[in-house]
This record gives sequence, structure tokens and C-alpha cells, in this order.
Amino acid sequence: MQAPTVEGGCLCGAIRFELALPTSFCVHCHCSMCRRNHGAGFVTWTGVPKQQLKLLKGAKSLVEYRSSEHGTRGFCKRCGSTLFCESTRHPELIDIVLASLDGPIEREPQAHIYFDTHVDWMPLDDKLPRINGGDLPS
Ligand SMILES: [Zn+2]
Ligand SMILES: [Zn+2]
Repeated sequence: MQAPTVEGGCLCGAIRFELALPTSFCVHCHCSMCRRNHGAGFVTWTGVPKQQLKLLKGAKSLVEYRSSEHGTRGFCKRCGSTLFCESTRHPELIDIVLASLDGPIEREPQAHIYFDTHVDWMPLDDKLPRINGGDLPS
């Protein structure tokens, strides 16, 4: 049986990709880099083993850069949409911005991470665990 898949892409449509479910995690990230990179209070990420992500088009538009000692971010050079993040802390996975997907994944967000650096202007009213630092929920 074919695994269920979800497609996604950048705002301008230059980059399109497909990921095979199931995902490995889904978290809201409150780190200062995500905030600045996306211009948002926090950013929701999911992730899959790298072999479950397939680039359908736009390899030439995808720019990658080192955003920290352990992270590399990928974005569209035409429209600026951030799409991916790879971390040497979990080298087998690729993180994908949940908002870049066309449809839902099989899980709900599980936790807030890097909550020690969250901003106060983004009130939260959920009961999810609030984790300091970047450890993913298991
Ligand atoms: Zn684009
Ligand atoms: Zn982050």
C-alpha cells in the first residue's frame, strides 16, 4: 500500500515538495531565530526522516544557509518562504514548516519548545507542555 502523502510549497510556487506520512513530531518553536526568520511570534514545525521528503520542483530556487552552529535553513530565493531546517542534533530528520503544507498531517502539535525564549506579546491558551530548550517530545 502506498503511504499517504501531503504536498507543500513556497508562496510563489517555484518550490513544490511532497512528504510521506507519518511524521516524526510536530512542535511550536519559540526560538528567537524562528521568530526573526518568519516575522512571527512562533513557528510550527513538523519533521520526517529525510527519505520521506521528495522535492517535486524548484531545486534551483531552494537556497540553504547556516542559521546556527547546528542548523541549516532552506528557503525560496524568489519569494523568501522558509520551508526546511536541518539540524545536526537530529541528522536523520528534516524539519518542515507546517504552514507550507497544502493539507493536514496525521498529528496535532505536541509541545512548545524553546519556551524559555518566548515573547509575551503572543498569548497562549493551550495546555501543551512548555519545554525550555530544543529537545523534541518523544
Ligand atoms: Zn517561492
Ligand atoms: Zn525555532
